[in-house]
Parts: sequence; C-alpha cells; structure tokens
Amino acid sequence: MNLPVSIGILKETTENERRVALVPEDLKKLASKNMNLLVQSGAGIMAGFSDADYLSAGCKILDSRSEVISEGNLLIMLGRPDSSDLKSFRSGSTIVGQIYPLRFPSLTEELASRNLRVYSLELLPRTTRAQSMDVLSSQSAVAGYRAAVIGAFHLPRLMPMLTTAAGTVKPANVLIIGAGVAGLMAIATAKRLGASVSAYDVRRAAGDDVRSLGAKFVEVGLNAEGAGGYARELTEEEKKKEKEVLEAAITSSDLIITTAGVPGKKAPIILSAETVAKMKPGSIIVDAMAESGGNCELTQQGKIIEFNGVKIIGSTNPQSDLPINASQMYSRNVISFLSILIDKDGNFVDPANDALLSACMVCTDGRVTFPPPVKDGGKK
Ligand code: NAD
Repeated sequence: MNLPVSIGILKETTENERRVALVPEDLKKLASKNMNLLVQSGAGIMAGFSDADYLSAGCKILDSRSEVISEGNLLIMLGRPDSSDLKSFRSGSTIVGQIYPLRFPSLTEELASRNLRVYSLELLPRTTRAQSMDVLSSQSAVAGYRAAVIGAFHLPRLMPMLTTAAGTVKPANVLIIGAGVAGLMAIATAKRLGASVSAYDVRRAAGDDVRSLGAKFVEVGLNAEGAGGYARELTEEEKKKEKEVLEAAITSSDLIITTAGVPGKKAPIILSAETVAKMKPGSIIVDAMAESGGNCELTQQGKIIEFNGVKIIGSTNPQSDLPINASQMYSRNVISFLSILIDKDGNFVDPANDALLSACMVCTDGRVTFPPPVKDGGKK
C-alpha cells in the first residue's frame, strides 16, 4: 500500500528570497483531501504568511527544517534544495521546485544518487494543458511589472504628460526590448504610468501583442521565430540589422527595459557599450535579464552602475520584491501541478503515464532523466 502524501514546505534558502512555494489559502484545499501538511516555522513570514495562518489552514508547524524534510514524502519549493538538506531526504521522496538541471548538474546527480524523484517546473512545456502550471509565465509577469516600476522610480523625470500652470511636460519615452510575458507586462505597466511606449521583439507575431496594449511596435524587418514559436538566436547579419534599425529608438528613449531571452541560451547582447554611449545622460536601463547574462554589455548582476550619465540597473529576482502576489501565483501553479501528480485516491501518478510529468522530471530511481530521450528520430 502507498504511504499517504505528506507535503513539506520549506523556507527558501537562496539569498534574498522572500517568496514561499505554497500559501495557506491553497493548502486549506489540500488539508481537506486528507494529506499531511508540514511547514517549516517561518517559511512564509517574508511573504506575509505567518505560522498561525498555516496552522489555521490545517498544517503542522515544525521548528526543525530537517524534520520537515525527513517526515515529508513530497517536498515543495520555489528553487532547489540546499546541499545541507540532502542527507535529510528519505530515499524515494518526491521534490517539486525549479532545479535548472543544466545550470546545476552536480546537484542533479546528487539528487538522483539519493534516489529522489525530482520535478522541475521551469521545464514544463508551454502547452495549453500546462498553462495553469506555467511558473515561468506567472513569475515573469511579476518581474515585468516590477521592472517598469523600478524604471519609473529611478527615472529623473515624470512618466506621464502633465499640463499645469507651469507648462506642459512631455511623457517619458519608454522602450521595451523583448515582448514575451515579462515585456508585455512591462509595456502595460509603463502605459498605465502614462509613458509613451514602444517595444521591439525579433518575433514578428509579438507585434500584434504590443499594438494590442496601445504601444508602438518598432519594425526591424526580422522574423527570428524558431521551434515552438520561441525566438531563435540571430545570425551575425541579422544582429547588424537589428543594431542599425534600433539605434534611433534607443537613443531617443528615456527608459529602456530589456527582457529579451532565447530559451536555453545566454541572453542576447542588444545594448553594446558603444550604443549606451550614444544615449542621453539621465537615461535609465533596467536589464531584467541580468541573471541570464544581461541584454546590455555593461550590466552587472544585482548592481546599479553609471556609464556616461546613463544608469544601468542589473535587476535580479524582482519577483522576490513582490513576494505576496508572486507566492500566491506560484502556489496556484503548484496546486495545478499536484492535480496531475496525485490521483483521486491520493497516490502518486506514474510519470510514464503523463507527458507533462515525464517532460519536467529531472531524476528518478537513481538516475538523471533530463533531457528526456528524443523519440522517433527527433520528430515530435
Ligand atoms: P523569453 O523570456 O524566453 O524571451 C522574452 C522575449 O525575448 C521573447 O518574446 C523573445 O522573442 C524575445 N527575444 C529574443 N531575442 C531577442 C532579441 N535579440 N531582440 C528582441 N527580442 C528578443 O520568453 P517568454 O516570455 O517566456 O515567452 C516566449 C514565448 O512563449 C512567446 O512566444 C510566448 O508567447 C510563448 N508563451 C506561450 C505560452 C503558452 O501557454 N502557450 C505561455 C507563455 C509564453
């Protein structure tokens, strides 16, 4: 007979991380499904959820982190387990988080060698069925909003047009580079703040999304849409064209927010030092891709630097600055994932029987399973 599911929720250990993986409101629903719920004391406090909130949602609060890990058989987190946690896991337990196995191969090997089954939510395919579990989208939406707010805060001028007895102030010119989930949210936020907003993306299809938000789409005359509707890397010739056409939009901007990414690759450099040198003093760049290498050549992760009077902000983990809603959204994604991970009788579903589970499984039964084997000679 299978053991009842015991969910463990830990305090995140990454530096400056304020989010929590499951919020009390969602845990109430699981408590009514006869699952054991264990929470490390203080796990949600930085996100605005106290131990008392978890207690009234039907959870048991444990002071000892290692006890949560060893008593739980389903550990749910935002990021990855800490190396000091590894000895506490029970062999055969399941972990759900964001592991980034290609970035952390030795941790992945270690998790496999301890016979843990690990699901990494950032690997879920962006299909309709997986939409409600899409942690990349939920967290990118928060990051895009935050990037616009950070930009507005640092901008040495007003965002909206303002007419007063002292004359009329023109709205700030904001350029968003990369119009995926984060970029679109940055556009919407900058628009709400009254700025004049333009945006650019290498996918032509993004133009319709940009225009639907009332922003201007900067036409570069490229369409670098690759597999699955995602952007591909540009050729050297395309990069040259991008640089030439974008320059006018860049040098006339007061605030640039960069969110351009290519799945599985380092962020493309779109703003070279030479281009930044042509920007107006007092301009701001918020590089929301700082953690993936940055879209600006000068970006320093987690730092604010100045170059020729231009402030360059290497924004890192902006979701953690808005931990209440970012946690609520991540928690909803997790609840949706649990609906495919655990069947109606409270048993773990065999990952071989669910395409989403097998797509995001990183290791099981003592071996690393990511990337999954390519079937039928590479055809989908
Ligand atoms: P991302 O974070 O990987 O990249 C952000 C954006 O940067 C993308 O729009 C990409 O086209 C753009 N980009 C890449 N190189 C660029 C360059 N050199 N210059 C300018 N822009 C560049 O993307 P994301 O936000 O995760 O979304 C990527 C895709 O996934 C989009 O097509 C989006 O519509 C799609 N998506 C689908 C679903 C779904 O449920 N089906 C959900 C979310 C996203």
